[in-house]
Amino acid sequence: MKRPVVAIDGPAGAGKSTVARLVAERLGYVLLDTGALYRTVALAAERAGVSWDDAGAVSAHAEKLAQSRAVQLERASDGTLRSLLSGEDVSGSIRTLAMGQGASKVSAVPGVRSALLALQRNAGEGGGVVLEGRDIGTVVFPDAEVKVFLTASVEVRARRRFEELRGRGEKPEMERVRQEVIERDQRDSTRAVAPLKQAADAMVLDSSALEVSEVVGQIVERVRAAERLLAGQA
Ligand code: C5P
Repeated sequence: MKRPVVAIDGPAGAGKSTVARLVAERLGYVLLDTGALYRTVALAAERAGVSWDDAGAVSAHAEKLAQSRAVQLERASDGTLRSLLSGEDVSGSIRTLAMGQGASKVSAVPGVRSALLALQRNAGEGGGVVLEGRDIGTVVFPDAEVKVFLTASVEVRARRRFEELRGRGEKPEMERVRQEVIERDQRDSTRAVAPLKQAADAMVLDSSALEVSEVVGQIVERVRAAERLLAGQA
């Protein structure tokens, strides 16, 4: 039976990672964190001495990485998703404030986006997958059976990022994190290619007003309805 593709888009800190992981667990679907792919490209560029602002060099580098399958997401035996760069587990190294900024910069480069597009489509095309990102419901899977736009106020999102970074042992300043969230929103929403934008047919959920369990419950319900619809069409 064909199962739905679930697209979860929204700004930084809206809770996409947590929600997507829980939804995938509840449904037994595969999880694909597309932000991790852009973060890994940013890390790879930095290591190779390629500037995030050099569009030509960064897209050539991303194409090389995609073609050689150097950037990959892999499910570990404990169920978590690991980001691999040429076989090395870089899951921790990509979760810094700097790599968030780097990802936001390299992801605005058209060549980087197209290099990662096929990888995302291949991973999701069979259905039974939850993809989280910025342009899943608009560009990667415009025909996704379930589209969610998850958002939250800037204050709530900045607070979450702050706690997340502290939990990783970083010592961020609240105001800097807040500025970083605003800056990243601005760059992600105004870039020429695949900007962060709500798909017209997306279900909008505001996680500043809802508990995680409520958000997850509403999405799971929507996926179940989509599963029934697909089963009826089969
Ligand atoms: O979601 P996360 O914070 O890991 O994403 C890092 C950056 O990668 C985002 O700020 C955004 O610029 C970029 N991104 C994107 N398209 C996606 C996922 C992430 O442009 N589908």
